[in-house]
Amino acid sequence: MRLMILGPQGVGKGTQAALLCGQLKVPHISTGDLFRNHVAAKTPLGQRAYQYMSAGELVPDEVTNAMVDERLAAPDAATGYLLDGFPRTPDQAHWLTDTLRQGQELQAVVVLEAPEQELVDRLLLRGRDDDTPEVIRRRLDIYRSTTAPLLDYYADLVVPIDGAGTVDDVHRRIAAALTDRSAPGVPA
Ligand code: AMP
Repeated sequence: MRLMILGPQGVGKGTQAALLCGQLKVPHISTGDLFRNHVAAKTPLGQRAYQYMSAGELVPDEVTNAMVDERLAAPDAATGYLLDGFPRTPDQAHWLTDTLRQGQELQAVVVLEAPEQELVDRLLLRGRDDDTPEVIRRRLDIYRSTTAPLLDYYADLVVPIDGAGTVDDVHRRIAAALTDRSAPGVPA
């Protein structure tokens, strides 16, 4: 299955993505993780990306798209994957649509939702290097202005999920919604 998971930072995307990938046996392709791996390995791409990441800004599309292109070409992505953190802008979404061959299109976009104050609280608890209040606000602003429009772009594929509650609650909601979507009318 070719899926994407979308939602503001702090909504539990990464955790849910990992659970879903384990269940569906597809690779978890997180652009944030790919960038962090490059930063840790001090590659030229990582050095370029770091200046943007540390400020909560988006890494330029040409860098991001090239990295995703390479990752999608890996053998383990041939039968499916879960994209997490990509696409994040309309231009990235258009690029992805043009890149995926016919018959290889995305099949569902899982959208996790939660109230903004809860997101900020969760992110401050997580305490990653780039989780300062200022950087968090900047990332949430970018989500609202630049990433949320993707909900319209992918309207036919969107599976909205309430992100409140425990990790297990949310996982069950996602699994049930995807089952309903692939077999409408059939009880899970
Ligand atoms: P994340 O782990 O998804 O929160 O991503 C961490 C940081 O990596 C973001 O704040 C951006 O600087 C960068 N990043 C991740 N995904 C993308 C993307 N699709 N486009 C541009 N920058 C990205």
